Amino acid sequence: MDRKEKWDNMLVSAKEMLEKARDGHYAVGQFNINNLEWTKSILLTAQELNSPVILGVSEGAGKYMAGYKTIVGMVNGMLEGLNITVPVALHLDHGSYEATLKCIEAGFSSVMFDGSHYPIDENIEKTTELVKICAEKGLSLEAEVGAIGGEEDGVIGGGDIADPEECKAISELGVTMLAAGIGNIHGKYPENWKGLDFDALEKIKNATGSIPLVLHGGTGIPEDMIKKAISLGVAKINVNTECQLSFTAATRKYIEEGKDLQGKGFDPRKVLAPGCEAIKATVKEKMELFGSVGKA
Ligand SMILES: [Zn+2]
Repeated sequence: MDRKEKWDNMLVSAKEMLEKARDGHYAVGQFNINNLEWTKSILLTAQELNSPVILGVSEGAGKYMAGYKTIVGMVNGMLEGLNITVPVALHLDHGSYEATLKCIEAGFSSVMFDGSHYPIDENIEKTTELVKICAEKGLSLEAEVGAIGGEEDGVIGGGDIADPEECKAISELGVTMLAAGIGNIHGKYPENWKGLDFDALEKIKNATGSIPLVLHGGTGIPEDMIKKAISLGVAKINVNTECQLSFTAATRKYIEEGKDLQGKGFDPRKVLAPGCEAIKATVKEKMELFGSVGKA
């Protein structure tokens, strides 16, 4: 194995891929993982489309997968076993301060510290400490200002619009990327949703300068709004619910059609195959929409 090959099979910080995305006016998708099938489907799609990718892990998913070290072992094994050569970052999603430290210790290449529920001074203080640790280890760090609406892993956000001055203060601490609430929410969007607040996004962009911005709650935001958000400085878009919906719909169809009762259709590898294909299709659709195809 030559040096390049070795390097290609390693997790990377999200910094370089996001700066390239910002400069190239596209966005890199963060797709949350829940198990081996999710991870494999996302990695294979990124490789097939020659796209950089960020694997997101919530604290709840971390517990579900038996801890952060299990995940690091699984993902590193897959990079080699599937010969994945596109840039891949393994990223903690909405981490508490403690979880952020645990993921750094376990070998994640990127972390999000969500201090949005703290008073801004405390958010700044904790983020500052993590900036120092991440810089020493060459990891990327995402910070958040202004809670994102909806529910994720039991964390209920009120959907505040982030204050541009607070965004500026956090972005100047040296974080890699900034998540700022602009009316986006986690999970399915309600029918009376007002849409993204582009006026707020523009103000945040003007206040924060060149830092790549992150859009959470990517499921169900209309395509034209996604494109406009990218044009206004969003370089990372998080997708979670949409893969869950497509996986579950495909799995339900398999069972409802009685396929599990035909021949060896009960084999878990067969049962989970349609769901995996559905995740691949969703990830492909998002990568095409975000413009990251061919940008590895
Ligand atoms: Zn989020």
